[in-house]
Amino acid sequence: MTDQYVVAGHPVEHSQSPFIHAEFARQTGQSLHYGRLLCPLDGFETTLREFARGSSAGPALGCNVTTPFKFEALRLCSTSSARAALAGAANTLRFDASGWYADNTDGAGLICDIEKGAGVALAGRRILLVGAGGAAAGVLGPLLASRPALLVVANRSLAKAQALVERHRGAAKAGPVLLRAAGLGDCGGAFDVIVNATATSLQGTAAPVDPAVLAPGALALDLMYGPLAAPFLAWARDHGAVGRDGLGMLVEQAAAAFHLWRGVRPETASVLAKLRRRLAGGAA
Ligand code: NAP
Repeated sequence: MTDQYVVAGHPVEHSQSPFIHAEFARQTGQSLHYGRLLCPLDGFETTLREFARGSSAGPALGCNVTTPFKFEALRLCSTSSARAALAGAANTLRFDASGWYADNTDGAGLICDIEKGAGVALAGRRILLVGAGGAAAGVLGPLLASRPALLVVANRSLAKAQALVERHRGAAKAGPVLLRAAGLGDCGGAFDVIVNATATSLQGTAAPVDPAVLAPGALALDLMYGPLAAPFLAWARDHGAVGRDGLGMLVEQAAAAFHLWRGVRPETASVLAKLRRRLAGGAA
């Protein structure tokens, strides 16, 4: 019998999370199995509840949740962390005896990767967050807490950006951070940090905003990774920015989830290096 975890989403076959958590388990001496759970678009709750009942392989103790179920995942939980409640979305669930607990580690993962991985301090910066889906919802609160001077949330559907901004008014005030919503065509220019949290890279296209959003030498980070991030990284490079993919964030958010489940914090740099080699086609 081995403790069971999964990443639940649609699609999940591309997910690198099983590799990352296997590495964390080996490194920390934890005994667990982490797999993939493909959920039908209209059957997330049923599929997850079946997994949570456990099996002959062992008890199910938690899961990660990926697109498009992060909002629904929070609603299925009886308790949540403050950051998941603020986001209105969860990427990490822990199945406690008293009920399901929701957390959102995406934002902590992103901040760690930008500040430690890329070496860019966010305080006082101008930040453009592109997108207003589950990933953007998860990272907005932690981005505000890092106290930039300005944060613009730009989205194809303006109403979704506005709703996200309204939910974060209190957090912006606490900064204080100037926070506003915009459409993709009127988000302003000369940002120090651009985070693409849309699904455009998944669709094979580059950034959905004008290059004028980039200040010279800006950090342009796409949450996508692997070959699908290439058009965005080329766009950043071609317009004088420093491109970065979402692999560092992926490993850091996973480490925070692992800590929530197992009570130990794994080391991330060596796992990120292995993952980069694996995705480049080399041996892990
Ligand atoms: P989601 O909830 O489905 O949201 C999709 C977002 O993309 C929405 O803002 C949507 O705008 C926008 N969008 C879709 N197609 C577009 C287009 N053609 N032009 C402009 N905007 C478009 O997805 P999500 O969960 O937020 O995930 C977004 C991306 O982040 C995915 O690629 C996911 O793999 C990645 N991600 C990476 C990590 C990591 O650790 N690296 C973590 C989380 C997510 P509308 O609102 O107008 O539809």
